[in-house]
Amino acid sequence: MVEKKKTTAKKVAKPVTAKKVTPKKVVKAAEVKTVEKKLAVSCSDINCHVHGSNKVRGRIFEGKVIRAKMAKTITVEWPRQYFLSKYERFQKRRSRVKAHNPQCISAKEGDMVRIAECRPLSKSKNFVVLEVLK
Ligand SMILES: [Zn+2]
Repeated sequence: MVEKKKTTAKKVAKPVTAKKVTPKKVVKAAEVKTVEKKLAVSCSDINCHVHGSNKVRGRIFEGKVIRAKMAKTITVEWPRQYFLSKYERFQKRRSRVKAHNPQCISAKEGDMVRIAECRPLSKSKNFVVLEVLK
């Protein structure tokens, strides 16, 4: 009986460590400014966060470009972990969003990009590409 109690105590301890994994990123104004300095090429895009009037606010994500065939729009995907409390384990899930791809950045398929939330640019587009990561 004593041994059984020990095993249950171990199971309870697991989800406490698991909670740390899910990150929440907050936009830092300084982070966005450093990105602006790097871009020297000018563009005539109204929705560009550097050359246009589009303001960046909200959440920042990093992901891979999986589709770049639309005009000035890319699809970005990144993996995330979803905690199932019944099994006390993580399930692999994917997030997929459309992001505005300005002329001065022009990210291509397969690139790793950093995207930031902005005002809705179309029905399904609420993000803009900040930079291409290497
Ligand atoms: Zn631009």
